[in-house]
Amino acid sequence: MNLMVFGAPGAGKGTQAKFLVERYNIPQISTGDMLRAAISQKTAMGLEAKTYMDAGELVPDSTIIGIIKDRLDKDDCKDGFILDGFPRTLAQAQALDELMKKSGKKLDFVLSFDVPDELIIQRIAGRRVCPKCGASYHTKFNCSKVEDVCDCCGDELIIRKDDDVNTVKNRLENYHKQTAPLIDFYKDMGVFVQIDGSQELNKVTKDMFEALA
Ligand code: ADP
Ligand code: AMP
Repeated sequence: MNLMVFGAPGAGKGTQAKFLVERYNIPQISTGDMLRAAISQKTAMGLEAKTYMDAGELVPDSTIIGIIKDRLDKDDCKDGFILDGFPRTLAQAQALDELMKKSGKKLDFVLSFDVPDELIIQRIAGRRVCPKCGASYHTKFNCSKVEDVCDCCGDELIIRKDDDVNTVKNRLENYHKQTAPLIDFYKDMGVFVQIDGSQELNKVTKDMFEALA
């Protein structure tokens, strides 16, 4: 199954992707996580990406398309994958379409989590993430068992640098300008599924699995 989780930053893509990984045993491919890993390894690509990410801007298409191409070629993607945070521009969506066609694959579903901007701001304000596994928690809506400690890894949770309120506003603006237009692209492809992502977490998961049944 080749899936995509789609929506604004903070819509719950990463949170729901973890449930898909568990159920289908296919990898979550998060471009944000891959870029953050490159930053912590201090690669040239990571250092270049950091300036865009810290400002809440999108990293250039050529960089992102390159890392996705290499990642989808890996063996663990042969039975399927979950794209998370990619594509974010029409050029990326078109490049993905070409890559898929070349490898004889097709996207099965684009699961789009619809969440109003006011709620996005609240979600991102309380987000805490595990720097090791990328798990995402919230101080009120989705608490870790022990405060500031990852349930899975035991690592200390952090606040993402780009989750500060001004950067979030810019990220949301960029989402509406550059990424939301992809909704029509995937509707035309016949793979788009809209889910009310503003509901409580378990209800979103339930609706997502019902859509896939
Ligand atoms: P994205 O991957 O789309 O950027 P996340 O999955 O990291 O978003 O979720 C953003 C924040 O919202 C996190 O703090 C997460 O714990 C919380 N969250 C996710 N889904 C819900 C939900 N349905 N209700 C309340 N909070 C949620
Ligand atoms: P995310 O973890 O998905 O919220 O992404 C964090 C940041 O990484 C974004 O604000 C962008 O700067 C960058 N990024 C992640 N994925 C992409 C993408 N597909 N295209 C461009 N930039 C991206």
